Amino acid sequence: MLTIIPTPIGHLKDITLRSIELLKEVDELLVEDSRVTGKLLNHLGIDKKMIPFHAHNEHQKLETIIAQLKLGKHLGLVSDAGTPCISDPGFLLVRECVQGNIPVECLPGPTAFVPALAVSGLPSDQFYFEGFLPRKKGRQSRLKELASLHCTVIIYESPYRVLKTLQDIQKHFNERQISVSRELSKKFEETIRGTGSEVIEHFSKREPKGEFVICIGKEGLS
Ligand code: SAM
Repeated sequence: MLTIIPTPIGHLKDITLRSIELLKEVDELLVEDSRVTGKLLNHLGIDKKMIPFHAHNEHQKLETIIAQLKLGKHLGLVSDAGTPCISDPGFLLVRECVQGNIPVECLPGPTAFVPALAVSGLPSDQFYFEGFLPRKKGRQSRLKELASLHCTVIIYESPYRVLKTLQDIQKHFNERQISVSRELSKKFEETIRGTGSEVIEHFSKREPKGEFVICIGKEGLS
């Protein structure tokens, strides 16, 4: 059996009781970075064997992991932060499990886009989660497609690219309402709301730091 275990996106107290229980219970843990998960396990006083499973080795590792699961091992899947499979590795493994009739469960837990959408003040009844935009090829055409959707659009971004991404968003979405949340659940958490030019002005004056979620409102919102 495979258990997907979400981990905090910042605040360590955001780990659920059930996640702690399962981190203890599984036979082994598939981890994105053993240094990051090691710190969390250490904080929780858990000693567990960790197997590296990340974007660069997930294809090669699939066969052996599936074989272990078929032998009856209970494996846990964690990423560095938040819920695995959400802009993180996991999908390929889950698909193989589904095709091989191996049971998969995912514990509910932290993920960055839900609190960002909830505090945005933008309509949350219908939204589109994009995750990371393409960096180069297809970026502009993707933004054009996203701008044609009639719902809130959610984008993940790093501090190094956030200003450029906000400028590209303004180019395609014009002056729509935008909410930019950074460092959710951490000490310097903040959410900046305004039109494209207002949020660009804000981050042009202050160097963007931390992890970012950008929510863009649909056309016609004031
Ligand atoms: N699996 C994660 C989830 O469930 O949200 C996402 C992992 S993805 C590799 C990392 C991106 O998530 C960051 O670049 C940022 O866009 C977003 N993110 C993660 N933690 C965040 C936080 N504390 N505040 C704001 N955004 C965050």
